[in-house]
Amino acid sequence: MSTIFSQIVEGEIPARVVYEDETTMAFLDANPLAPGHTLVIPKDEHERLNDVPDAVATDLYATVHRLVPAVEASVDADASTVAFNNGEAAGQEVPHVHCHIVPRFEGDGGGPIHAVAGDTPDLEDDELDEIAGEIESRA
Ligand code: 5GP
Repeated sequence: MSTIFSQIVEGEIPARVVYEDETTMAFLDANPLAPGHTLVIPKDEHERLNDVPDAVATDLYATVHRLVPAVEASVDADASTVAFNNGEAAGQEVPHVHCHIVPRFEGDGGGPIHAVAGDTPDLEDDELDEIAGEIESRA
């Protein structure tokens, strides 16, 4: 079964589409966290960033890069939070990669991205070295 975002791509359900090209699309979030809250997706269905082919990732970032200033200027925002909920444990509800562009305003009462984690770990230097090595070997 196709995702709700694929149905938007196919024009089967309506959305306020603000940008579209061959491989990506952007539209307003149906439940905005702020005026102008926009979602950027690859048109092809990939559940997580980890599943996105390199060429699609390049296109996706190009569209995010294009949309961030457009969204901010359109609602006169002071800044924006740009983020992916990448996987269910991170709060992803729609299993089709999407980047949230959430306009932010001075004094809007929201938090920084540092507020998304639960309990933060207290890691020793050797643990940090080991983790860095593991990531480096896979990057
Ligand atoms: P997630 O939690 O998966 O990162 O976020 C999914 C986002 O998609 C939510 O912010 C939600 O409001 C938005 N959303 C869910 N269904 C629809 C829809 O049918 N149309 C649009 N435009 N946004 C949707």
